[in-house]
Amino acid sequence: MKSPSNPDLELRGKLIRSLGSLREMLPGSFVERKRSCGQPNCRCSDGKNLHSQFQISVLVDGKPKALSIPAGLAEKVREKIEMRRRFDSAAATICRLNLKRFLEEKEAR
Ligand SMILES: [Zn+2]
Repeated sequence: MKSPSNPDLELRGKLIRSLGSLREMLPGSFVERKRSCGQPNCRCSDGKNLHSQFQISVLVDGKPKALSIPAGLAEKVREKIEMRRRFDSAAATICRLNLKRFLEEKEAR
């Protein structure tokens, strides 16, 4: 049974429950590149108003890949990649709490 007054267990439970909302997470990092399209009359021809090109930089079967993201999906993908960061952070905190509990249990023997 969990003791409701233990702040470590409360934090661990809260983190575990938050993981479900991260189920759409994606690996890799979100990359935004600026480029010109090469058309002389385009707004990008001044070299300042460049086009944004979005990519996921990710390892696929151990090999680095840059996967292009359609502009309409860029925000969604950015959020999903951010989810992975939060997932890793939650996992690290849970492991830290559990290690502390292990050491306490060991001491008590
Ligand atoms: Zn252009």
